[in-house]
Amino acid sequence: MKEYVMGNGAIALGALSAGVNLVAGYPGTPSSEIIETVSKYPHEGIHLEWSVNEKSALEVAAAAAYSGARALVTMKQVGLNVASDPLMSLAYVGVKGGLVIVSADDPGPISSQTEQDTRRFADFCRIPVFDPSTPEEAFAMIGDAFEYSEKYHTPVLFRPTTRVCHAYASIDVPGSYTPKEYEGFIKDSRKWVIFPKLSYMNHGLIEERNIKIGQEFSKYRFNNVTGTSKKAIVTSGVSYTYVKECIGDMDDIKVIRVATAFPFPESFMTDALSDVSEVLCIEELSPYIEEQLLKTVGIHHLDVTVHGKLDGMVPHNGEMSTELAAGILSGYLGTELSRELIDTSDAPKLPLRPPVLCAGCPHRASFYAVKKAMEGRKAVFCGDIGCYTLGNAMPLDMVDTCLCMGAGITMAQGFAHTDPDSVCFAFVGDSTFFASGMTGVVNAVYNEADMILCVLDNSTTAMTGHQPHPGTGRNMMGNIVDKVDIAKVLEGIGVRSIVTVDPLDLKKSVETVKQAAGTEGVKAIIFRSPCIAITKPKDKCTVDGARCINCKKCIKEVGCPALITVNGQVSIDMNLCTGCGLCAKVCPVSAIGGRNDE
Ligand code: SF4
Ligand code: SF4
Repeated sequence: MKEYVMGNGAIALGALSAGVNLVAGYPGTPSSEIIETVSKYPHEGIHLEWSVNEKSALEVAAAAAYSGARALVTMKQVGLNVASDPLMSLAYVGVKGGLVIVSADDPGPISSQTEQDTRRFADFCRIPVFDPSTPEEAFAMIGDAFEYSEKYHTPVLFRPTTRVCHAYASIDVPGSYTPKEYEGFIKDSRKWVIFPKLSYMNHGLIEERNIKIGQEFSKYRFNNVTGTSKKAIVTSGVSYTYVKECIGDMDDIKVIRVATAFPFPESFMTDALSDVSEVLCIEELSPYIEEQLLKTVGIHHLDVTVHGKLDGMVPHNGEMSTELAAGILSGYLGTELSRELIDTSDAPKLPLRPPVLCAGCPHRASFYAVKKAMEGRKAVFCGDIGCYTLGNAMPLDMVDTCLCMGAGITMAQGFAHTDPDSVCFAFVGDSTFFASGMTGVVNAVYNEADMILCVLDNSTTAMTGHQPHPGTGRNMMGNIVDKVDIAKVLEGIGVRSIVTVDPLDLKKSVETVKQAAGTEGVKAIIFRSPCIAITKPKDKCTVDGARCINCKKCIKEVGCPALITVNGQVSIDMNLCTGCGLCAKVCPVSAIGGRNDE
């Protein structure tokens, strides 16, 4: 039967078709919909979870694969950094059942801290990587990835990029899915317990095995060649579809597509280059395939010139596109590509949506309270990864640093030690607190830091699509579970001052922050108010034109996108306002009202 699904859905259905037994992951754009798709299809007998972070997800999956089950792990590319500790060791130990790790890369980057390339990780860990170009291929390749994983007893990486994850396609899928039958865990400490001697032995075997996989990949159906010419194009991933769109069915241009970047299909490439004098490599992110081409050309003494990112013909950063590929190809081939690209000039312009906190977002109130409380005092505000990174925008301007998941808590400690005149704040969301914040708090208590931890608890993982987490009281198996209480966790760690406050109660919030700033040691304030996307809006607020003195203090201090000006007069956009009441508390002449509880 046919299903019209996005690339992430295709990956999910491919895994279900391959008989996956366990799926674990941590949300992150562009990968989040994989687990959500599995949860929407019948998944009887399959364990499904949002783990607290990517490392946990991989370790849960590793045990399943040791037992002979098939396991899928999902994450975005920066999540692979978190999972890299178990991944490196797992590459040495190996698996019994198939283990596929989807690490979705984000060229651009559109919603990530880095433009890192998962293919480099595959090379670094010495494990195979599959690089689909379309949702249809992703569906088919996931099954192949499980097969290779089991055949060579190795974890396998699978790296779609944003446009593959988010593209839609109609795919032939089976009507029902049956999980794999597996043997269960057989104890063998010589195999499953990593020791230096085992790593030494397995390292040699892995390198021998990779030669074999490279030879097998040379015959792999998705590594293929079309057309003939002296000047060829080598491409991969979604860039392949852009190249094909540019050249259409012209068969006087040779296109060599590599779908398995590591182990590199060397004999496939030497055959493909046998009648070629020049190649242009079009790929996103790092020049990985280009470097493999240079190596192949060198080892085999081929008379082939290689172009790409390294000689500046292709940009190093940002996404590839059909338009960009067309320009690069025209220069390389010395001919204007006559192929007509899709003209989108008459498409309606999308409204601008600047990256700001949503109207009524409780995080705005939390930041505002801290800002008010710290007026006239020197303070450092360490941010973290989540919606609340947007607290950096004017007029709030409340995020001085943002590095990676959980880093705000530990960086605030560093500032406290080196800049003792400042009051040092860390802002962390509830999901990030569980993912990688808790160890930072242990560090703070143990090393006697002087800091204020602000947990912005909106009861969801808002940034990536409102996934549940340990504090929400439900899991991906559809069960209601005990909530992990952040205040109790902090108490257990040894934080002595813990106050929970509603950020929309501005007066109390400001007092709480002032009090914390007057105390030494590690203090925690839990600003608890649900994300406006998961709650019913209250009555909306309005501006009383007769009272308003048009001072614009509400706009200049709160910065809520629902606060607008109409003919120079401050007004509230009824489509956006959630009635949070924050602007009403800021107005000096009480011109804003309308909430039932005001
Ligand atoms: S009450 Fe004010 S701050 Fe809250 S959503 Fe409406 S306009 Fe924005
Ligand atoms: S703060 Fe009050 S008085 Fe000033 S512009 Fe806004 S609504 Fe009008």
